Order: sequence, then structure tokens, then C-alpha cells
Amino acid sequence: MASVVVTLDGSVRAPDAPLLYADDLGAVRGDGCFETVLVRDGAPLKGRAHLDRLARSAAALGLPAPNDGAWWAAMQRAAMLYGEEAGGAEGALRLVYTRGRESDPGTPTAYVTVSPLPERARRARTEGVSAITLNRGYSTGLGTDAPWLLLGAKTLSYAVNMAAARYAQEQGADDVIFTSSEGRVLEAPRATVVIARGRTLVTPPAEQGILPGTTARALFDAAEDKGVATAVEPLFPVDLVMNDGVWLVSSITLCARVHTLDGRPLPDAPMDGTVRSLIDAGIENTP
Ligand SMILES: *Cc1c(COP(=O)(O)O)cnc(C)c1O
Repeated sequence: MASVVVTLDGSVRAPDAPLLYADDLGAVRGDGCFETVLVRDGAPLKGRAHLDRLARSAAALGLPAPNDGAWWAAMQRAAMLYGEEAGGAEGALRLVYTRGRESDPGTPTAYVTVSPLPERARRARTEGVSAITLNRGYSTGLGTDAPWLLLGAKTLSYAVNMAAARYAQEQGADDVIFTSSEGRVLEAPRATVVIARGRTLVTPPAEQGILPGTTARALFDAAEDKGVATAVEPLFPVDLVMNDGVWLVSSITLCARVHTLDGRPLPDAPMDGTVRSLIDAGIENTP
């Protein structure tokens, strides 16, 4: 159960009270977009970056442009209420924006929830994860050639992402790294892939049908600030085996080192500590 629920008109809802109508298109078609935002000490981290991406996702879906001021206020309010309740502990905040009711076209549904940090995220941060590579069956050009596939939007149609994560679990792995039909490394179902090659951090280009991650962006900004080299270039399956570290980075888990890939242990990651402190600096400094 969420600890805090705030709707876009600023009202605080009882977290265990029903909120959606049965014909909400978010529920019946997954038609909408969302963001997950880390809350620390009662404040959202990189809130601006998340609201900007929510606006881009909404535009891709043809939803009305989100009311930025109302979202900002609801997000701050929800984070603050959670911070008071949880004594400053970290929480997972969601921005949910759906097309609204089938019977009331043109009125989106919009709300914010905050829940305690999932145990899975805590464990992935401290212990790392095992992952398997899975073919997503898309070519890298599809993101730009087929905008209706919404590859660059964070949509509520997440059933495939969750099915891939369950498939990994059935194979005894914690997570998935998707590859394209021509065998390029794409992303994880809920995170961006970053590798180290020597002392250089590398991530594949978002133009290859990858969601532009706000955490990877914050990491790369902090790296550039501190003189750590970065590169955005296509990655191949061999890069997941021959490297100096592989991480899955995302807003809630922040950083999960991949210690095992397709059942084989990966090389040591001498930059693990550096990547973690760069992410921490990056998310604190990103508006
Ligand atoms: C949310 C998400 C990410 C990570 O984005 P962050 O902004 O870093 O949280 C990466 N890939 C996909 C598919 C996602 O849904």
C-alpha cells in the first residue's frame, strides 16, 4: 500500500481508499505515462528532470500537456508528507498520468503516490544483481522509424517489461538486459545500462529505441564535472563480457552492479565506488 496519495488538485487522499473509476483507460488499456522518483529527507530528487520527461511522454502519447505547476506542487507535497511520516527515510514516488475515463474523454487522471523503498531495490544496491540477456526483437532504428511504438516514452504499458523480469526470475536471475534484433545492447526493463571500459563510462545512445534515463544523465553530468571520461556509443554483447564493470542505473535502485551475466561471473568492477559516489553527487545536483 502507498503511504501517501495526492491528486493533482492538491488533495491528500486516504492511501487505502479507492481512487480510480472502473473505466479508467490507464487501468483498462495501460494508456498513460508515469515516472518514478526517489524521495530523500522529504524531497523529490531530480524532480525537474522527471517532470520534463513526463511532459515528453505525454506529448508522445497525445495527452494534454501536463500542468507543470500543479505536478510540481503535488510532488513536493507528497514527498514532504512521506518524509514526515517516514522520518526522512527514502521512498519511491510515482507520478501517474492516464488518458482518464473512457466515458469522459479529454479529462486525464493525474495523481502522485509515495511508498517505502522496495526491499528488492535495497538488495540490488548492496548486493548487485545477476542478469540474463533477452532479445527484445526490435531493430535499433525502430525508435525513430516507428514513433507509434512509443519507445522513448515511459508509458504505463509495462506488462512486457514486467513479464521479462518474471522470465528472468524463473531462470534464476534477478534482471534482464535487452538486446535489439541485430544484437546491440539496449537497456534493462526498468534501468539504463552503463559499462566501464578502462576508466571510461559508456552507455548506448537513446536514439536506439532506449528510454533516456535521468539517473544515467545525472551520472554522466557528475562524471564530466569530476573529469571522469564518458561516451555514448553503441554497445555489443561482447561489451557485456569484456569490460571493467556493468551497472543497471535507475531512479529508485540508483545503481545495481551486474556481477553475473547469463550464468557467468563478470570481471571485477574497479570503478564501482566511483560510479556510486558520482550517482549520489549527480542526483543531489540535478534539478
Ligand atoms: C524508468 C526507466 C529507466 C530508468 O530511468 P530513470 O530516469 O533513470 O529512472 C530505464 N529504462 C526504462 C525502460 C525505464 O522505464
